[in-house]
Amino acid sequence: MIYNEKYETMPREDLEKLQLARLQDLLERVYARVAPYRALMDKAGVRPCDIKTLADISRLPFTTKDFLRENYPFGLFTVPMEQVVRVHASSGTTGKPTVVGYTRRDIETWAEVMARSLACGGCHRGDMVHNAYGYGLFTGGLGAHYGAEKLGATVIPVSGGNSKRQILIMQDFGSTVLLSTPSYALNLAETMADLGVDPASLSLRVGIFGAEPWSENMREEVEKKLRLTAIDIYGLSEVIGPGVSMECIEARHGMHIFEDHFLPEIIDPDSGKVLPAGEIGELVFTTLTKEAFPVIRYRTKDLTRLVTEPCVCGRSFVRMEKITGRADDMLIIRGVNVFPSQVEHVLMGIEGVEPHYQIIVEREGSLDTMEVQVEVSESFFSDDVKSLEKFAKKVQAEIKDYIGTTCKIKLVEPKTIQRSEGKAKRVIDNRKI
Ligand code: ADP
Ligand code: ZN
Repeated sequence: MIYNEKYETMPREDLEKLQLARLQDLLERVYARVAPYRALMDKAGVRPCDIKTLADISRLPFTTKDFLRENYPFGLFTVPMEQVVRVHASSGTTGKPTVVGYTRRDIETWAEVMARSLACGGCHRGDMVHNAYGYGLFTGGLGAHYGAEKLGATVIPVSGGNSKRQILIMQDFGSTVLLSTPSYALNLAETMADLGVDPASLSLRVGIFGAEPWSENMREEVEKKLRLTAIDIYGLSEVIGPGVSMECIEARHGMHIFEDHFLPEIIDPDSGKVLPAGEIGELVFTTLTKEAFPVIRYRTKDLTRLVTEPCVCGRSFVRMEKITGRADDMLIIRGVNVFPSQVEHVLMGIEGVEPHYQIIVEREGSLDTMEVQVEVSESFFSDDVKSLEKFAKKVQAEIKDYIGTTCKIKLVEPKTIQRSEGKAKRVIDNRKI
């Protein structure tokens, strides 16, 4: 179902006109009210009135997480504090969190894009939305909550953690839609198995998973284990929270960006040049309608490509492909670029490997080494050292074949690797210590 036909199927030409008008309004607001933005634009020699077409956006300076941190906590708010009705903070996956604020209208916009997202993933009124994203400063819980209510579904605000109770609730309340990180969804599947609960006996139909990268093979794994259709949702606090883009259930290929609110660009992460449609690069967003905490050309560090071909679902918004990883997460192992998601892709394709793994990076002398710790299914894990060695060699060879570098493999018993209740920690990089 399309939640808001008017905007979601808007002809591109009209959409671009709307985007330009909104962009110009945004720049006027920000330039007049926020000194650090004014300084940034003055330094780049560009004024709001210089932006006459959408393409002119490339004249504006980029903003980064560092710029947000320099103005921590409220230095970039564009409205007086009396108009800010809520603050959130990013998860702080990569350092000190950044604080974001919302006016009443921003909260309304967020609920709108989240309601659109849920509808895009096949949810509707009458659904029991089991919201296992964490509630609190993290944007996941409350963001999804307001969207589900706006859609008219019934929200179960369970938040993350306490998996046994979550499953009891699923059984008793008849949860039909699960919202969580993909790693927590696996954690729940495992708890079900421990409790002897057959997922087919539950009412789960759709899982809307996001907040961390997950591979196509991981999707299959989650679908098989939870007996539902798994759909990808993307967002980041700096832009609004969850609901920046969403996969449609019809195509399940790429996430539609709600472009009437968020203007995407793909740039070369090294040169900062805007790349033509279809090329992989760093995703950059400008928020067109946000009031309290807008961002201009914010570099997300997330790597993807934009798909401009029309989609079967009828939405005219562009799609972004699954995130390969964050530029931050990219490991350079003996000259080879490695993303944890690539390792995951290989692991999930091997029979006998459980979907729980961790990558440990060390520096030995001047050489970087990577060890992949991976859980092996109960039935595969034997005390027979020879057969385990053979299995480890096979995993090593498949990784080498796919990413081009040799890593150590450590097979561990089921349930050894720490389970996540929110975002999974896939990489332990001991080189930075
Ligand atoms: P932090 O940056 O501290 O983790 P956020 O909670 O705002 O704070 O997380 C946003 C980030 O989470 C995104 O920039 C992206 O790297 C990651 N992310 C969110 N959704 C997805 C998704 N569906 N696929 C891959 N990565 C995602
Ligand atoms: Zn679509």
